[in-house]
Amino acid sequence: MLIVTDDIDRTEHQLTAGELACPECQGELRPWGHARARRLRTRHGTRHIRPRRACCRVCGRTHVLLAGVALLRRVDAVEVIGEAIVANAAGLGHRPIAARLGRPAATVRGWLRRFAARAERTASHAVAWIYRLDVSAFRVDPDRDGTPVRFALAALGRAVAAAERFMGTTAHSRWQVVSSLCSGRLLANTSCPYPPVR
Ligand SMILES: [Zn+2]
Repeated sequence: MLIVTDDIDRTEHQLTAGELACPECQGELRPWGHARARRLRTRHGTRHIRPRRACCRVCGRTHVLLAGVALLRRVDAVEVIGEAIVANAAGLGHRPIAARLGRPAATVRGWLRRFAARAERTASHAVAWIYRLDVSAFRVDPDRDGTPVRFALAALGRAVAAAERFMGTTAHSRWQVVSSLCSGRLLANTSCPYPPVR
């Protein structure tokens, strides 16, 4: 699984130009058909996306290129889930958040619980990215008065800012950058680690 830009034409161009690297061995990826089409529920309705599949010329593994708008095994776009997480960290309960987003309360509660369960792991992963992307970064210390969820959000925010500085551009969507940095695993099973930062 590789997270790519939401711009289909750009991904296609990068793929045919050999600009995308295999997450396993850094070899050159080449087009290899498409993965199964899937639904994505955004804030503005349902989108249908059909992720590209690519094959590594070096190790021969195939990878699905998932656009950064989505998270692994989640029907809702990362912006929608991110909005719920931020609102909850600010003190709002899962029911009013669900009402605001037009999603079932149980679904929103599931996102929040999973994010909280992975908060420490997510924070460590984000901190690794901060150091990887910004050699001048100061030590990132947990906020002693905060919660693991708030620290994870703060660390993700700093990691996105570091990524923006590194790329020299302002992200169209900060949550899509989060999705990319986390390889789509922001709400993955608690036993599923993030891939190593390199
Ligand atoms: Zn490879």
